[in-house]
Amino acid sequence: NKKVVLRHYVTGFPKEDDMEVVAAETIPLKVPEGSSEAVLVKNLYISCDPYMRGRMSKYENDSSYIPDLLPGSVITGLGVARVVDSTNPKFVKGDLVWGMTGWEEYSLIENPEGLHKITYADVPLSYYTGVLGMPGLTAYYGFYDVCSPKKGEYVFISAASGAVGQLVGQFAKLMGCYVVGSAGSDKKVELLKNKFGFDEAFNYKKENDWNAALKRYFPEGIDIYFENVGGAMLDAVLVNMRLHGRIAVCGLISQYNLEKPDGVHNLFCLVSKRIRMEGFLVTDYFHKCGEFEEKVIQYIREGKIVYLEDVVEGLESAPAALLRLFTGSNVGKQLVVVSRE
Ligand code: NDP
Repeated sequence: NKKVVLRHYVTGFPKEDDMEVVAAETIPLKVPEGSSEAVLVKNLYISCDPYMRGRMSKYENDSSYIPDLLPGSVITGLGVARVVDSTNPKFVKGDLVWGMTGWEEYSLIENPEGLHKITYADVPLSYYTGVLGMPGLTAYYGFYDVCSPKKGEYVFISAASGAVGQLVGQFAKLMGCYVVGSAGSDKKVELLKNKFGFDEAFNYKKENDWNAALKRYFPEGIDIYFENVGGAMLDAVLVNMRLHGRIAVCGLISQYNLEKPDGVHNLFCLVSKRIRMEGFLVTDYFHKCGEFEEKVIQYIREGKIVYLEDVVEGLESAPAALLRLFTGSNVGKQLVVVSRE
């Protein structure tokens, strides 16, 4: 049972050798005797997600919502897997599932409460790491619930071509909004405009004044900002928001590897423009997975939304794949194939 372990707690920008692929003892292909709730799964796809960086540091305060990883132990994260054996009445051998699993070939999951059964077979299984999994759920409720969107509103999305952003933009277009995204390469900008149907997009690395860039794309201001990056981009957006605008704080990826967060200077705009800025966590919406899946699978079948994945092969490639999120090398949802059968 090959696996990827965290070697030590990480500070600053993570490196490949913070993680290590080890060949561990062979595991019996049965749930051990005495376990009445467990499932043993074969992992098929594992998902690389930005929140995993936070779990690689030791938390000294209570700002984290999910326990840290322990040095020396297997990295846990979301994935798609097949049940090989089960003593849990909810799962049987052969079931396909998505949810919390391990970065290893097989995982014994003692408490499979976080596993969801996959019932639709007409879409790629890997979609359950993305559009039909956690990032999809994040985009769906983050946009429809937290942003309270209305037809015709002006929407801005940062990290717009990623796992979450590409969907937020497409949901906003379906709603009849004007949508602009920022991304870190010309290739991503091209995708935003020509594949995902954004009205406009810009390469933030080529703009030396983000405030001016936003004024160019939003001469009348921004109603909704879907925040994925934080820092100086948030500052530039704040001064370009319209009265009674809404900011859904989904993530702050520009801050995750900094030892000291960048200051945000324009928070008073929240007061002067009566902006609602609200953080949210996808975990609060897991109970609505069924409703979300029904809606989004329909969009996929009707071709109303498309989804772009960035797929790498083999568990050995997983540490490097995770780092791609923080250099922006991923184009679309980053995932790793552990096994195709
Ligand atoms: P992505 O697929 O968008 O990958 C991360 C992207 O972030 C990179 O491709 C890169 O794109 C961009 N990025 C990386 N470093 C920086 C930086 N320093 N400054 C600006 N952009 C940077 O990831 P996800 O779609 O999975 O996640 C997007 C955001 O959503 C993250 O902040 C994540 O933490 C958050 N999130 C929050 C959830 C919640 O429950 N609140 C759930 C899921 C995700 P580029 O080339 O464009 O710079």
